[in-house]
Amino acid sequence: MRLRAAPVDPSTLPEDLGVDWSRWSDGRAYRLRRKKHFPNVNPGLARTACEQAAASMGKVARTVRDKTIPDKQIWVQFADAEVGVGQPCPICGSRRIFNLHADMGRCPECKAQLLLSNKGLEALDEDAEGGDVPSAAKRVRLAQRLHSLEHVHLQRSGEAGHHNELYSGWGEQEGVRFIVLAEFEPSDEGEEISLDNMDEQILMVKVLPANLFEGLVDVNELAVRPDTDWDLIL
Ligand SMILES: [Zn+2]
Repeated sequence: MRLRAAPVDPSTLPEDLGVDWSRWSDGRAYRLRRKKHFPNVNPGLARTACEQAAASMGKVARTVRDKTIPDKQIWVQFADAEVGVGQPCPICGSRRIFNLHADMGRCPECKAQLLLSNKGLEALDEDAEGGDVPSAAKRVRLAQRLHSLEHVHLQRSGEAGHHNELYSGWGEQEGVRFIVLAEFEPSDEGEEISLDNMDEQILMVKVLPANLFEGLVDVNELAVRPDTDWDLIL
């Protein structure tokens, strides 16, 4: 009968647990065993150590506990960078990223292996910093975001606080369709939001990959609606 070895006290180990994590940094997925590949510690600590090691190598690592024996095994996979769904390649800016599998992709331009992160909702707030009234520079940035899309079709969909106007619709970028949300503040003169004043009145823009709404919003159906259904067409 083999005696179970007592777990190692992690405070006696260096931050990387004394493991050379670069052995598994070539982008393939590896299953690592407690006691064989990393010390006899809680696999959660091994995950943290692996992710920190990746960061110190200028990379990122995706780590998960093995579902069948979660207290003994983890899976690790390194990538060159992390990218949010619908975001461009953080290394070269390419808008095209091929999925390798559910959470790993490859940029066809710079060949980077990219960890696809689904922290989409955090990413949604990238434009939400600051107070209610955006600076002139921020308005320009928001307007540019809208104008960077093609075929933007927006309809007035309601009112937000302070009588701001909410618009929703769709747009395209390089053949990929996006759901577009925009908020405008009413003009002092009470004019309707139009192509002429929208850049000055803009408060917020959200551009969300339409595939996130699969089954909820049929963006293809939106795209064939007649232009007269829309309030703003860019
Ligand atoms: Zn790239």
